Amino acid sequence: MDTLKVLDKTFVSFIPHLKIQETIAKMAADLDRDMFDDDPLFLAVLNGSFIFAADLFKQIKMPARISFVKMASYMGTGSSGKVDQLIGLQEVITGKNIVIIEDIIDTGLTLTKLLDHLDGMRPASVKIVTLLYKPDAFKANFKIDYIGIEIPNNFVVGYGLDYNGYGRNSKDIYTL
Ligand code: 5GP
Repeated sequence: MDTLKVLDKTFVSFIPHLKIQETIAKMAADLDRDMFDDDPLFLAVLNGSFIFAADLFKQIKMPARISFVKMASYMGTGSSGKVDQLIGLQEVITGKNIVIIEDIIDTGLTLTKLLDHLDGMRPASVKIVTLLYKPDAFKANFKIDYIGIEIPNNFVVGYGLDYNGYGRNSKDIYTL
C-alpha cells in the first residue's frame, strides 16, 4: 500500500488526487449554478486551504474575487484570557455575498469564531464550502453549504493539510 512518512509518523493512502479533482469540479459547478450573479467574495482560511482554494477557484467560471484570511488568538490583557483575531481581511464585506473556503471542518470551533467576526460586519450572505468534513467530530451549529467528502474522525495529511507543519505538499490525502 502507498504510504507517506511525515516526521515520526507513517500515513497510508486515503483519497487519491484524481478523486479530489473530480470532487472539486463538481463543487465548482454547484457554486456557479447557485451564485453566478452574486458577485461573491471567496475567503480562504489559511494555512491549510491554500491548495484546495487554488484548485477550486481555477474551476469557477462566474465573476468572483478571492482573499485569504486567518484566525489567530493571542493573550489579551483582560481577565478573559485568549482573544481571537481575524487577520488579513482588507475588503469591505458589508452587503457582499461571502463564501468561506475551508480545507477541513472537524469540531467546527474555528469556523464558529470566524463566523462571529464576519456577522458583525453585516455581509449580505455567508456560505461555507469545505473539501473534507468529519461529521462524527462536528460540535457546532452552523450549516455547511457545500461538502466535498465526508470522512471518519481520523487525522489526515496532504493536499495542504499538515502534520506539525509538514506533509502539505502531497498531491493525495493520507490518513493514520
Ligand atoms: P475545527 O475547528 O473544525 O475543529 O478544526 C479546524 C482546523 O483544524 C482545520 O482547519 C485544520 O487546520 C485542523 N484539522 C482538523 N482536523 C484535521 C486533520 O485531520 N488533519 C489536519 N492536518 N488538520 C486538521
